[in-house]
Parts: sequence; structure tokens; C-alpha cells
Amino acid sequence: MAPNPGPEDKVDTPATDIPESLVTTLRSTQKLTVLTGSGISAESGVPTFRDAQTGLWARYDPMELATPEAFERDPRLVWEWYAWRRKLAGKAAPNRGHEALAELERRVPDFVLLTQNVDGLHHRAGSQNVVELHGNITRSICSVEGVLVEPREDDAIVPPSCPGCGAFLRPDVVWFGEALPAGEIEDAFDAARECDVFFSIGTSGLVQPAASLAFEALRRGAVVVEVNPNDTPLTRHAGYALRGKAGDVLPGLMRAAYD
Ligand code: NAD
Repeated sequence: MAPNPGPEDKVDTPATDIPESLVTTLRSTQKLTVLTGSGISAESGVPTFRDAQTGLWARYDPMELATPEAFERDPRLVWEWYAWRRKLAGKAAPNRGHEALAELERRVPDFVLLTQNVDGLHHRAGSQNVVELHGNITRSICSVEGVLVEPREDDAIVPPSCPGCGAFLRPDVVWFGEALPAGEIEDAFDAARECDVFFSIGTSGLVQPAASLAFEALRRGAVVVEVNPNDTPLTRHAGYALRGKAGDVLPGLMRAAYD
């Protein structure tokens, strides 16, 4: 995967491939909610959990590292995997999909961006109203007290320990099997219920409770738009399924609606 394709590698979805009825809907929408998943960051070089991992980590299954049980079994391994992912995310730049969503926020009066991503790329692209449902990889917390802790630069022991109680630090992310932060999930369901248009972008729709958000929006009568190169459980229910990469489809959509 090329982290930041040059202009010659970019395949834009022509603005003309965006249905005219969607363009009309988008131009008049007052309340728009977007849910993103790891697919939107794939074009920035941050692998999804379902992509093959690379290098040293190729033989590990991310689904089995992103769990409390894995951390209990081998805290060092899990910390080091996250240190690698943190480095990847730090080196990555937001792509044209992230940028299009930051631009969309400036066009729509009431805009909420819900993300399952932990890489911080939406903020770096300029998005403002972002709800991070699964935390943020750049932060660390005490694994016992849950408080935010800044790991010391010179920490030689991995994982570093909490200066308060001595327990291991862990990344401030939600692992498989853990509950989402209550405030964030409440905000997310409110935003799904109240919007008139809901976008589901780059998410397989297999990780709950985020996967229910698009269905909640559908039940409330919102127009649901999916952006994904592949089918998901949402595809046949969505009002529009735009096939392709977020970094191609979203700029095409912005051109069709606002140029
Ligand atoms: P997922 O791995 O289950 O699904 C990724 C989806 O993105 C797939 O449906 C795939 O078809 C689609 N996709 C791939 N490339 C795409 C592209 N260029 N444009 C649009 N779509 C594309 O990811 P998920 O649904 O986000 O759930 C997995 C969990 O993994 C989440 O909880 C998330 O927190 C975590 N995660 C986060 C990151 C990150 O922060 N970047 C990376 C990996 C995993």
C-alpha cells in the first residue's frame, strides 16, 4: 500500500458518477452525521485490522492483540505493538478523504463526525466536531486507575508504569470486549437519531455498538450513504452505496455538490 499516493496514482470518482438526487439532498441537509472506520485511514498507510500486517508484526493477528486478555497475558508485546502503530499514525498524513470531511463540516450547519479510529488523523485534517468512540492511540492511561498519564521519555521498562500506583500503563483505546466511553456513545446515538443524512465510511460494520449507528439513523428516516470498496451488512439497506476508496469518492462528492 502506498502511504501518500502522488497525483498520478490518484483515481478520482468523477463528480458525474455521484447520483444527482444525492447531490440535491446533500446541498439542503441541515444535520449530517458521519461514522468513519479504519478504511478511511488505509490510504494514509495506517493498516486496518483486517489488512495483512507488515514487518515484525506480520505473524500476529491484531484481533488477538487488541484485547484486555492479550494485555494481561503479555503486556510488553501489546505495548510494543501499539508503540509501532503509534509511530505509523504519527508518520502518516491525513489523505483526501479526511480532508473532504473537514471541508464538508464547513458546508453543513450541524455536523458531527463519529470515528472508530484511534489515529487522530481527522483532527489533523482540520475536523472540529469529532467524537472518538474508541479512544486515541497517542494517549496512555493507568491500566488500573484509568487516569491519563504522560509516559516519561526515558522509560526503559516496557510497558512504563503509573507514577501514582505503579501499575502498567496502557494505550487509551477501547479494546475488543471493553465498553465504550458512556458520554461518547450517548453523543453518537443522539447524532445518529437526529441527523437527516448519515454517512458510513470505511467501516466493515462488524464491531458493535458502532455498527448499530447507521441502522439507528435508518430507523429514524435519515438518508444513509455508504462509502466502501466492499460490501458490508449495511450495503443493501443504504440509500446510496458509493463503491470505491474514500480518498477517491469523497473528493468527487464534494466537487459534485459544491463546485
Ligand atoms: P475494519 O478493519 O473492520 O473494516 C475496514 C473497512 O474499510 C472494510 O469494510 C474495508 O472494505 C473498508 N476499506 C478498506 N480500504 C478502504 C478505503 N480506502 N476507503 C474506504 N473504505 C475502505 O475496520 P472498522 O470497521 O473500523 O473496525 C475495526 C476496529 O479497529 C475499530 O474498532 C477501530 O477502532 C480499530 N482500528 C483503528 C485503526 C485506526 O485508527 N486507523 C486502524 C485499525 C483498526
